[in-house]
Amino acid sequence: MKRLDQFLANHGCGSRSEVNTAIRRGRVQVNGQTVTASDTHIDPETDTVLWNGKPILNCPFVYLMLHKPKGVVSATDDRRYPTVLSLVPEAYAHYDLFPAGRLDKDTTGFVLLTNDGEFAHRILSPKRHVDKIYRAELTDPIPDSAPEKFAGGLVLKDGTKTLPAQLDVVDDFHAVITLREGKYHQIKRMFAACGTTVKELHRSAIGGVFLDSALAAGDCRPLTDGELQTLLSQI
Ligand code: URA
Repeated sequence: MKRLDQFLANHGCGSRSEVNTAIRRGRVQVNGQTVTASDTHIDPETDTVLWNGKPILNCPFVYLMLHKPKGVVSATDDRRYPTVLSLVPEAYAHYDLFPAGRLDKDTTGFVLLTNDGEFAHRILSPKRHVDKIYRAELTDPIPDSAPEKFAGGLVLKDGTKTLPAQLDVVDDFHAVITLREGKYHQIKRMFAACGTTVKELHRSAIGGVFLDSALAAGDCRPLTDGELQTLLSQI
């Protein structure tokens, strides 16, 4: 059993005081009855809760697709820079979201935000082979030898070994990279090991789910059921 106000707050309806006000005003129904006491206890497994007439599903996990702009850090908290969480609408403020995988401050593109720790762990684990796809622009022409080096697994300047990765050269200065791991500054360091420098980097897909082209930089939306199933089927 769970307190009604806690259940609603945990499901993104607002802060505890906001949901308490809404309950007092008669905006919440449990099993067809309007309930005005916040300390009402419900069974999330069996009770039907309506919030402003809409059912609240007993799914405590949230999965958001965010289009990260430049200048934002992939952290939950930062003293100097805005974080990816600062871009999430107020309605999700009570879900304890965190980024499942980091992009550098100057990298743009797809960041998954969730409060499902097991899911995040699996998506990031190199053992699960969940591919992440990036587009890169380079300052100097991509050496002919680079695709083979990426495919063989590179040794970075500090001695770190990378897993085999795919480098598809688009033209002298542009490439698409597919990785299944996410070491610190990995793509920048892989290109550095090949003798060129990353100018722009953008993540376009995670596990076959592509960043929605309708999402402007800074916007986010929940994953669709289909997108979530695509990811879950790989982990
Ligand atoms: N590789 C990088 O170098 N930076 C990123 O943000 C992601 C992958």
